[in-house]
Amino acid sequence: MDHVINLKCTICGAEYGANEVAYVCPKHGDDGNLDVQYDYDVIASRISRESLAANPDSTIWRYKPLIAVEPDSPVPPLHVGGTPLYTAPRLAALLGLKHVWVKDDGVNPTASFKDRASAIAVVKAREVGAEIITTASTGNAAAAMAGLAASIGLPAVIFVPKTAPPAKIAQHLIYGARVLLVDGTYDMAVELTLQVAKEFGWYNRSTGYNPYMTEGKKTAALEICEQLGWQAPDRIFVPVGDGCIIGGIHKGLKDLMALGWIDHMPKIMGIQAAGSSALVDAWERGLQGWEMTPQPAETIADSISAGLPRDRNKALAAVRETAGSYLRVSDQEILNAIPVVARNTGVFSEPAAATAYAGLVKAVEQGLVASDERIVVLLTGSGLKDIRSAMQTVSTPPIVAPNLEAVKAVMSQQA
Ligand SMILES: *Cc1c(COP(=O)(O)O)cnc(C)c1O
Ligand SMILES: [Zn+2]
Repeated sequence: MDHVINLKCTICGAEYGANEVAYVCPKHGDDGNLDVQYDYDVIASRISRESLAANPDSTIWRYKPLIAVEPDSPVPPLHVGGTPLYTAPRLAALLGLKHVWVKDDGVNPTASFKDRASAIAVVKAREVGAEIITTASTGNAAAAMAGLAASIGLPAVIFVPKTAPPAKIAQHLIYGARVLLVDGTYDMAVELTLQVAKEFGWYNRSTGYNPYMTEGKKTAALEICEQLGWQAPDRIFVPVGDGCIIGGIHKGLKDLMALGWIDHMPKIMGIQAAGSSALVDAWERGLQGWEMTPQPAETIADSISAGLPRDRNKALAAVRETAGSYLRVSDQEILNAIPVVARNTGVFSEPAAATAYAGLVKAVEQGLVASDERIVVLLTGSGLKDIRSAMQTVSTPPIVAPNLEAVKAVMSQQA
């Protein structure tokens, strides 16, 4: 990896060689998240906007020279990334805005944004010769890891709260992962996985602990800018739980600024559920990530339920360094957003994904957004992941006898 200079601690700034430490800065227990530092001259000698334009690979691996993997490492076969960025004129009109796009990451192989990170995880696991890969997850990270691991025949062990939505648990099981349902919160599952992975020597994908997950998640920012013809948007709305996605978006944009491929840094907007808003609190109070303490976390948006967000240092930097904002939205606002997004774009989102749009609504209400800004909303996961929540937002359809008269009767009632 001659394009990687080192791994830098997000707390103390200490730097380590990529072969020196596997996960975190040893000085802060399990909390010293590392950030991969690149040599952009080396990268620029291998990839350019022109070479990308000529590259038919539409997966995340089109950006492989920008990702901290060995250049000759084999990559998994599933088609991760290259997700559509749709213009959303009706959504924009609803809010009095001119330019809104939605990035549909629900079309990834396991139907969430997490595939971007899990694809990197299985490559790194193979690079270090791991025989088993593990992760803690609220559901999607584990589904992604189970699917990507299955695609290359790597055994996976998963720790999810027993309350995870059934569709996600079905994914873990169907992909053949060993699933352990933790009788506790996601935060407890994270702590447990840290202990177990160390004890058994398994490769640990866990978000906000494994430094390479940011490098997978950043590919969405690279795609957004490339899809917009390298005219970076003004603002990006990101749903936030552990904070790895938002940190990854920031990282991808910083890479593009360092390469000179975009000319301004978009403002990054972090959106949390009101019941799980530790990062909004920390941002409002001016706290650093390492000053944060565990908070209760309770929200219908299970994918962003995190009492002590694991990637909090990168997550706070993403908003602070781009002059963005953190906002909280209620569970009711999240639920309301699901059908609004679906009916105005054709994209069906799970609650966590719809949270990004609920955040845009809030930002407009608060006067934070100018009407001519170019805005991207990150839709991070498919609505099919959690139909129980979606069904709360719609009424029960009528049951009709199988004849024309019955249909006419119903249609006349429901004009
Ligand atoms: C994981 C997840 C998020 C939040 O990502 P973090 O890195 O935990 O902040 C948002 N939406 C969906 C659908 C997710 O699965
Ligand atoms: Zn450190």
